[in-house]
Amino acid sequence: MLAITCDKCRRRYTATDEELQVYLREAEGKKFALVLCPHCGKPSKVAADRITQALRFSPSAANPPEATE
Ligand SMILES: [Zn+2]
Repeated sequence: MLAITCDKCRRRYTATDEELQVYLREAEGKKFALVLCPHCGKPSKVAADRITQALRFSPSAANPPEATE
């Protein structure tokens, strides 16, 4: 789950983990994912890093964090 503030209407909304995983896949190779605002329907840029972090800290994450350290 990630709280997002819309670039266009400045309202806040949240994306579920399932949605984040889809956005992250679409953002592959890019720095930003385009997340549609449910209020105005316009896409907002969300950094792929932020999405990765949100999924990592999610207790319901399907993919456990990789132990790279
Ligand atoms: Zn909006």
